[in-house]
Amino acid sequence: MIETRDLVHRYGDDGPAAVDGVSLSIPDGEFVVLAGPNGSGKSTLVRHFNGLLEPDRGDVLVDGTPVAEDLVGARTRVGMVFQDPRDGFVAATVGTDVAFGPENLGLSHEDIDRRVRDALAAVNMAGRRDERVDELSGGERERVAIAGALAMDPDHLVLDEPFTGLDAPARESVVDHLRDLHESGTGVVLVTHDLRDAFDLADRIVALADGRVAVDATPGDARERLPKLGVRAP
Ligand code: ADP
Ligand code: MG
Repeated sequence: MIETRDLVHRYGDDGPAAVDGVSLSIPDGEFVVLAGPNGSGKSTLVRHFNGLLEPDRGDVLVDGTPVAEDLVGARTRVGMVFQDPRDGFVAATVGTDVAFGPENLGLSHEDIDRRVRDALAAVNMAGRRDERVDELSGGERERVAIAGALAMDPDHLVLDEPFTGLDAPARESVVDHLRDLHESGTGVVLVTHDLRDAFDLADRIVALADGRVAVDATPGDARERLPKLGVRAP
């Protein structure tokens, strides 16, 4: 469970609040699409879920514990995949990159190996451990980034604009893997302004406007309310 309570975040001391009083609870296993126009605070909000940013006001809790009190716990439970995965890769090859997180958990060599194998299999990249990350296509890179997060065995996988720069087949492939993950019990928080592919997968649509929650509804109920916010519903 991820919870924010009256979360406020400002960049700079007297700037406007990028996140302005957000209270949300995201239960384990829930598939949430987080929508909203550019600059509405989506990335700022999700960066609090695993302690990449600190609240100026309010609280962020993972399984009831404030993130700042147990950063490792939050980062183990909440996996994060960023907008441009090129920024997120730490190693040259697929296998070493995916192994990086589990290695930092101090697991045995066998456990690391099994996690890397399972995570790569989950995104259809089995048997490609030795390939160079910089020689992969955009869609493959996105899937390796997802595998890197999955190898931590998180309760929630948070993806910030994972479709940016992907063509339709690559987007569909990522969506297919998110569907499988959700069906196998992993919670998914998908940040996107492109609702085409993911809308019907979601249990819940949360839309931000100016750093506040403007819509929090089922896809069916959200559909009519999104255009007002400048978000195109499919
Ligand atoms: P979104 O992900 O919905 O596009 P962001 O969370 O990136 O929105 O941005 C919310 C607001 O915070 C915007 O006004 C943006 O300009 C501002 N902002 C985001 N990141 C920074 C930063 N590193 N420094 C200063 N302002 C920022
Ligand atoms: Mg963003």
